[in-house]
Amino acid sequence: MPTTVKAYAATSATEPLTPTTIERRDVGPRDVRIDIRYAGICHSDIHTARGEWGATNYPIVVGHEITGVVAEVGSEVTRFHVGDRVGVGCMVDSCGECQYCRRGDEQYCVKGNIQTYGGVGKDGVPTQGGYSQAIVVTEDFVLRIPDGLELDAAAPLLCAGITLYSPLKHWGAGPGTRVAVVGLGGLGHMGVQLAHALGAEVTVLSQSLKKQEEGLRLGADHYHATSDPDTFRRLAASFDLVINTVSASIDVDAYLSLLAVDGTMVNVGAPEHPQSVSAFSLLMRRISFAGSTIGGIRETQEMLDFCAEQGITALIETIGVEQVNEAYERVLASDVRYRFVIDTSTLA
Ligand code: NAP
Ligand code: ZN
Repeated sequence: MPTTVKAYAATSATEPLTPTTIERRDVGPRDVRIDIRYAGICHSDIHTARGEWGATNYPIVVGHEITGVVAEVGSEVTRFHVGDRVGVGCMVDSCGECQYCRRGDEQYCVKGNIQTYGGVGKDGVPTQGGYSQAIVVTEDFVLRIPDGLELDAAAPLLCAGITLYSPLKHWGAGPGTRVAVVGLGGLGHMGVQLAHALGAEVTVLSQSLKKQEEGLRLGADHYHATSDPDTFRRLAASFDLVINTVSASIDVDAYLSLLAVDGTMVNVGAPEHPQSVSAFSLLMRRISFAGSTIGGIRETQEMLDFCAEQGITALIETIGVEQVNEAYERVLASDVRYRFVIDTSTLA
């Protein structure tokens, strides 16, 4: 018998999220049932709830920055026990057989990874996310939360953390590299901490200087306002890696002008509308214009362990679930420092 749990759902692109109930499947032999304690609010939740990425299958329960405690394990589960502190990020399954799955890049599964919400599980049932009391996930997609990390502040690592860690590692951020993080929101504030811990020289490019003090405290070496046109003139051709975390469209060519020869701009922000790029912005300094999405399960565990070792967590504002609509408005106004996390006990 599937279990009914309380949740908060979007029912259309324009209406506020409201209370609902959803069904979670029975625990299969390789499944783990998790009592959800916290769910981070990622800007992707808002894009999805508001139908900004194409047709959303309503009603939908979003949330893919999940932490909690194992409540039940299937008969063949070997890696988890009841009571373990665990997390689930943006994926709950993948084909497991393609070259990318086999090498630990499940996010790039040729059949498409199965997203924590808005996907369709191998049982044919639409997936529903973390703004809920419990979730059932195959053990291969469950992460272990290291002892040094609190469950609330660790939740945003499951998406925001890995989304920055993976490209920083892939493009070699470290001693001697100059990294710019565009946008100091949920993703950006993780990027600053991770790039700094990896040894890179870190610059924040934010719309204003309002968050400068915190940005520097998080590990940035430099902080500039993009609203000041002089910023682009002064910083021309001075970065090896620019990571764009902005949720809205930006002037891509202006940011490409900040890259040194052979530099790379990586888009992790996923705005609603396409953006244009001039060929000249790329060819004059052999620039690469790239994208990246989350990270594989093995790399996500590596990131969690790295954060525990380095004392890195998200800066969070914990809210009750009834405040979620207000929190969405504040995220949209760039008024979040730096991640809202829902205490899911307030669903009771
Ligand atoms: P967020 O907390 O809202 O942060 C975005 C930041 O972008 C804001 O804090 C703001 O920073 C800046 N910004 C917002 N509007 C802007 C505008 N009009 N012009 C310039 N800067 C602007 O969002 P998030 O949760 O970090 O997510 C950011 C984006 O990444 C979203 O599009 C999300 O869907 C996407 N995402 C992608 C992946 C992936 O796998 N690739 C994973 C997670 C999220 P300042 O105030 O500092 O300017
Ligand atoms: Zn996310």
